[in-house]
Amino acid sequence: MDWKNLPGGGGGIEDRRGGGGVPGGGIAVGGIGGLIIALVAMFFGIDPSAILGGGDGGQTQTQSQSQAQNQAQGTPATDENYQFMDRIMTSTNQVWGGVFQQAGRTYTPARLVLYTRGTQGGCGVANSASGPFYCPLDNKVYIDTSFFSMMERQLGGGGDFAYSYVIAHEVGHHVQNELGIADQVEREQRSARTEAQANQASVRLELQADCFAGVWGNRVKDQARITQADIQEAISTAQAIGDDNLQRQGAGRIVPDSFTHGSSQQRVKWFTTGFQTGDPNKCDTFNQNYSQL
Ligand SMILES: [Zn+2]
Repeated sequence: MDWKNLPGGGGGIEDRRGGGGVPGGGIAVGGIGGLIIALVAMFFGIDPSAILGGGDGGQTQTQSQSQAQNQAQGTPATDENYQFMDRIMTSTNQVWGGVFQQAGRTYTPARLVLYTRGTQGGCGVANSASGPFYCPLDNKVYIDTSFFSMMERQLGGGGDFAYSYVIAHEVGHHVQNELGIADQVEREQRSARTEAQANQASVRLELQADCFAGVWGNRVKDQARITQADIQEAISTAQAIGDDNLQRQGAGRIVPDSFTHGSSQQRVKWFTTGFQTGDPNKCDTFNQNYSQL
């Protein structure tokens, strides 16, 4: 992938790296196991209110300090991480802006908060245990800079297109928010009679966000020179973050009723559907039998 070919400068990035952060309160998350459990609950989630506190994030201290100095001097960040996020955000917002425009609707671009350790957001405290998420209350995606290295170690290997998939998935939640789909799902969840039923609504929402991420990939595949190897990166990630796989790695027991994001196979399927068609209308995960998803 040649992400530097994508447009930049309009990503709406809030650089909060090197800030003091917000100390993680609540339950301490111990190591990888704890992180995995947090991820099962939170991975790519839309509502971080259930964030487990703790998390480390102390490893990036040196980098944070120099960035804090940059910030203090008012120097705009030029590092690769920042540039990357900016281009993916600019590009996803452009693609969706175009889609909305064609449909005669207005699109408000999503913004992205890049932070280390922890930060206060419209949906509460974000920290490294939360994983990337979208907050519908302030229209911002929150990403901890240590997330991508964790992904590389634990979740399917990473790579720039894999990271793009994560960001595009979060922007997919923003699109759902703009379309009123997120509200509908929330209402449905509130009136659900069982937890399993509420979880099913969540799975539909998450798989649609995967599909939307694929749609973005399709629309930029020539410009960003996305190769077969890049596609494989995203697929490996989708596989790694399937609920069945995370549960197998975490508690070791797979409970489909507790899935909130979909199985590995479903996540791959919906990302691929979006990527192959480039058509958001093909991402209707709501008008399908749940067992056929
Ligand atoms: Zn999600």
